[in-house]
Amino acid sequence: MPTAVAVAFRFFRMEVTRVTPLGPSLVRVTFGGPELTDIASGGRDQSVSLFLPQPGARDPLVPVEAGEDWWHAWRALPETERAVMRTYTVRAQRRTPDGGTEIDIDLALHGAGADAQGPSTAGPAARWAARAVPGDRVLLYGPTVEDNRAVKFRPPHGTDLVVLWADETALPAAGAILESLPPGVRARAWLEVRHPDDRQALATDAEITWLVAAEGAPDGLTAIRSAVWPGARAPYAWIAGEAGAVKELRRHLVGERGLDRRSVTFTGYWRRGLSEDRMRAEGAGAE
Ligand SMILES: Cc1cc2nc3c(=O)[nH]c(=O)nc-3n(C[C@H](O)[C@H](O)[C@H](O)COP(=O)(O)OP(=O)(O)OC[C@H]3O[C@@H](n4cnc5c(N)ncnc54)[C@H](O)[C@@H]3O)c2cc1C
Repeated sequence: MPTAVAVAFRFFRMEVTRVTPLGPSLVRVTFGGPELTDIASGGRDQSVSLFLPQPGARDPLVPVEAGEDWWHAWRALPETERAVMRTYTVRAQRRTPDGGTEIDIDLALHGAGADAQGPSTAGPAARWAARAVPGDRVLLYGPTVEDNRAVKFRPPHGTDLVVLWADETALPAAGAILESLPPGVRARAWLEVRHPDDRQALATDAEITWLVAAEGAPDGLTAIRSAVWPGARAPYAWIAGEAGAVKELRRHLVGERGLDRRSVTFTGYWRRGLSEDRMRAEGAGAE
């Protein structure tokens, strides 16, 4: 795996070209636009920042003209006017027949979708995703080089078993990771979703256990705790999803299973009861 980590990121203007429901809890939004020709996703769990317009606005308000100081300029705008910034994963990047580039981002609806029961507590990104239509405009802050610091899945040399845990927010990353593994790499994945129809067909020969909440499946910690990994001498674990669950799983892997800390990549993708803005302000991720 590459170790040199580059830092080249920039803004890309793009617009929705297709919306494909993936099940009750996730929607795939495909984006295109001339600027995307220069994007260079590193694949696997490549994360990016999405900037979404405020409800009722046509365009997301980000002072890109401030150059490297855009963050402070964006923060200085009133919260009700500036674009909503949220972190997502590039599920796929493709060339189009006309020589352009398009990317897929899979967004969890967490309550804002068709299966919404009662008033939704979903955040602005989930609400945006539930209503996205072709032509909607957003900004993305993402990489121009494939080897960049927002790719976290980096198994150490000699890894003989890849262990994954993901909830629905990290399913896009887990899917891209599994599909990127060279043939012959042993992998075991526990993927937690709400609904039976949230299961996806993934192009991998990894052993996958779908933990479907609506079917009364155990949570990831319970399932992984009772699993045996015969013959694995150098396992590498990648875990991402709700920050509290990630913390407990990491504790199990390092404390109870004895995995080397450097062999566990863990990221809190969201925290129950906190918006991403609050999570960022409180440093409440699990990483
Ligand atoms: C590196 C990284 C990569 C990510 N990749 C993806 C991705 O590809 N797809 C994806 O869907 N998400 C992804 N996420 C998670 C996503 O950024 C968060 O779920 C984010 O909070 C969604 O924003 P929001 O505006 O919908 O909700 P917010 O305004 O941030 O939060 C509003 C409320 O919703 C709750 N909430 C947030 N997420 C969930 C959830 N999944 N289920 C139930 N309640 C929730 C919060 O706890 C809060 O109470 C990623 C996060 C990180 C850090």
